Amino acid sequence: RAKRSGKGVACFFDAEMDTAVRTRRQMENDLRHAVVRRQLFLEYQPLVDVRDDRVVGYEALLRWRHPDRGLVSPGVFIPIAEESGSIIQIGEWVLEQACLEAVRWNEPLAISVNISPVQFLLPNLFDQIEGILRRTGLEPRRLELEITEAALIHNRDDVLATLVRLRLLGVRIVMDDFGTGHSSLSNLQTFPFDKLKIDCSFTAALDKDPAAHAIIRAIIALGQSLNLPVVTEGVETERQKQIIVDEGCRQIQGFLSGRPGRAPSSSHSAQDRPKRIEA
Ligand code: C2E
Ligand code: MG
Ligand code: MG
Ligand code: MG
Repeated sequence: RAKRSGKGVACFFDAEMDTAVRTRRQMENDLRHAVVRRQLFLEYQPLVDVRDDRVVGYEALLRWRHPDRGLVSPGVFIPIAEESGSIIQIGEWVLEQACLEAVRWNEPLAISVNISPVQFLLPNLFDQIEGILRRTGLEPRRLELEITEAALIHNRDDVLATLVRLRLLGVRIVMDDFGTGHSSLSNLQTFPFDKLKIDCSFTAALDKDPAAHAIIRAIIALGQSLNLPVVTEGVETERQKQIIVDEGCRQIQGFLSGRPGRAPSSSHSAQDRPKRIEA
């Protein structure tokens, strides 16, 4: 009897696994063609200085519109692209698109681009980024690269060398999702960061969880003592904003100040501007 029910469970499990595996393989395959088939696009979310509520830059966030599945969340497809390696090609496309977009803006605002840990496996990541900056004409100091702690686990010396060279160009390096990875504070000592981003999970818990508040306070204080600007992500309410402003944070990013969306209007894109009446 036990045998039979065991088999039943196994069959059910197999069938589910089978579908999951097939879906994943299909997405993996579809992702290989997503750039060429023009299914990818970027949304831009503002980073705001709380002292004057001015936008200081935008983070480029990748979107995938699949012909059958519709919009697939980056939380779903980025891990697949990372495991299958397509993130290499996709990441290059993202960098190029984001830089092309930013050079068209009226104001020389910062553009933040997320870089996958997998992209650091490329021996020529530096050359790729330098080439994109040169071709697009974006000033290196306008580019911020967001990396997570996962990028700092393997080949630490190579990653460090790449980051140091990028910084010499003027590119800034941002530690994204700070405090959520397999982190060690010594990473802040070893790697040349220009900014820390507090993960939205801490912000979301701010109202209910005193520990989240304490962690945010500690990260902001850490940033201040290391002379690193701190951005708080995921700020959705005035109350959350007030708390982090009181703690001394100067930059925020979140639905309160703007959802990810279309790029800001630019000097060369006619469709974004109201039609001018010709005299
Ligand atoms: P991230 O870099 O930490 O980006 C912030 C995420 O928080 C974005 O999710 C953004 O839409 C979301 N967010 C912003 N404000 C709020 C808020 O007020 N409340 C809440 N609940 N969420 C907010 P998104 O766009 O789904 O991206 C998820 C993650 O996917 C990113 O996290 C990043 O790790 C990754 N990702 C996105 N675009 C790229 C890319 O071009 N390349 C790579 N390698 N990863 C990317
Ligand atoms: Mg980011
Ligand atoms: Mg983040
Ligand atoms: Mg994240």
